[in-house]
Amino acid sequence: MCRKGRLVLFSGPSGVGKDTLLEILYKRIPELQHSVSVTTREMRPNEVEGRDYYFISLDEFERMRENGEILEFNKYGSHYYATPKKPIDNWLKDGKDVVLKIDVHGTANVKKLYKKKCVSIFILPPSIEELENRLRLRGTESESDFRIRMETAVNEIEQSESYDYRVVNDDLEKAADEVVKILKHKKLK
Ligand code: ADP
Ligand code: 5GP
Repeated sequence: MCRKGRLVLFSGPSGVGKDTLLEILYKRIPELQHSVSVTTREMRPNEVEGRDYYFISLDEFERMRENGEILEFNKYGSHYYATPKKPIDNWLKDGKDVVLKIDVHGTANVKKLYKKKCVSIFILPPSIEELENRLRLRGTESESDFRIRMETAVNEIEQSESYDYRVVNDDLEKAADEVVKILKHKKLK
C-alpha cells in the first residue's frame, strides 16, 4: 500500500461479483480490513453471521441509529443496511486500510465525512444481460427482490461516473488484478 489509513469504498450492482472479487482481494492483500455491515435482511444459506453481515432486527437497527452507533445507512428494497462507526474509526486510528462494501448512496455519504481518506471503486458488469444471468444463477433472490435489484442496478450504473475507478468484471482474474493494482500502486485521487 502506498498510504495507510484509507477507506476503500467498494460498490457495484447486486450480482456483479463484489463478494467473489473481495474474496480474492483479501487473499492477495491480507492486511486489508473488511468492515462488516449490519442488515435487517435475512441471511442467505451460504452466508455467515459476522463474516458477511451482522443480521439484526429492525428494533436493534433503530436502537443503534438512536445511539449514534451508525456511520451511514441506506434502505435497499425493504431492508436496512448500515456501517457501524466505532470499528471504522479504530481501524483508521491504527493506520489500517478498510474496505466498505456499500452502495452509491452510502459512498456519497462516507465521502462527505471522510473526504480525502477515500478511494472509491465501482465494479461494472460486462452487460446488463450478463448481470441478470449472474443474479439468476446465484439463485438467492425472490422474483420481487430480483426485480428491485435489476432496477436499482441500472440506476447505480448511471451514477458510477462519480467513482475514482471503474472496473469491468468480465474475466474474474483480470478484474481482480486491476483492483489489486489500484490498491497497491495508485495514490488517492
Ligand atoms: P455481489 O457480491 O456483487 O452481489 P457475487 O460475488 O455474489 O455478487 O456474484 C454473483 C454471482 O456471479 C456468483 O454466482 C458468482 O460466482 C458469479 N460471478 C462473479 N464474478 C463472475 C465473473 N467474472 N464471471 C462469471 N460469473 C461471475
Ligand atoms: P446484498 O443484499 O446483495 O448483500 O446488498 C445489497 C446492497 O446493499 C449492495 O449494493 C451492497 O453494496 C449494499 N450495502 C451492503 N452493506 C451496506 C452498508 O452498510 N451501507 C450501504 N449504504 N449499503 C450497503
